[in-house]
Amino acid sequence: MADPPADTSAQPDASINHAAALAYWSSNPPTVNSMLGGHPQLSRIDLQSSANFLAKLRRSSRTHPPGKPLARAVDCGAGIGRVTLGFLAKVVEVVDVVEPVEKFTRELVAGEGRGLKAVGKIGEVFNVGLEEWVPADDTYDLVWNQWCLGHLTDAQLVEYFRRCRGALVKGGWIVVKENMSTDLEERDVFDEVDNSVTRTDGKFRTLFKQCGLKIVATEVQRGFPKELYPVRVYALQPDG
Ligand code: SAH
Repeated sequence: MADPPADTSAQPDASINHAAALAYWSSNPPTVNSMLGGHPQLSRIDLQSSANFLAKLRRSSRTHPPGKPLARAVDCGAGIGRVTLGFLAKVVEVVDVVEPVEKFTRELVAGEGRGLKAVGKIGEVFNVGLEEWVPADDTYDLVWNQWCLGHLTDAQLVEYFRRCRGALVKGGWIVVKENMSTDLEERDVFDEVDNSVTRTDGKFRTLFKQCGLKIVATEVQRGFPKELYPVRVYALQPDG
């Protein structure tokens, strides 16, 4: 007898619906408050920790030692460019941006980032979801993914990471900075509000392995309120 069909309701990522996620985000104002789910005061410490994390990576890098700015980075799921403006543009010559909601990138290039766009510090702006984005090979020193990967299914994420791997220059990094599920049974959790999945640390590690990425550094964000999900940052490089 054939097996019964798999119960997809048990897979939180099966509930992901891109149209619903985009409708949710489009209904949000283009502000740091909405990017951070009502916790704008966390932006400063988040950006400072990210800068420290990258500085540490560079101190142990042969190809990208401290000193001059990195040549090119991409801010993935960038929203209004909070990470680009507050961190990446300060340490990278050219920052590309990927963000499906045009209203957000318009705010970036016409608002606070206008000057940076004019001088080419903000490079290309791709208004697509990461599941559709195909980066050029051998392009980026740094691919920064923060608080957006929950919008991709596990299968989409694996394909996306494989493309990002090819998009790295030698010695470059993919960085993932995301909320971690604290489910007692170690399950990913679906969030009905923004239509995303919050994954466990274990799930992320399994997915990284599946696409041939190794973790070269990882740490938990310090100084965030205890009642929020813990946030973990990983730096990844091709494994071999
Ligand atoms: N990374 C930014 C924004 C976080 S808010 C920061 O840290 O400030 C989450 C962002 O993910 C929103 O801008 C939302 O539009 C975007 N997003 C939603 N679906 C996406 C998808 N499929 N691919 C990439 N980004 C997506």
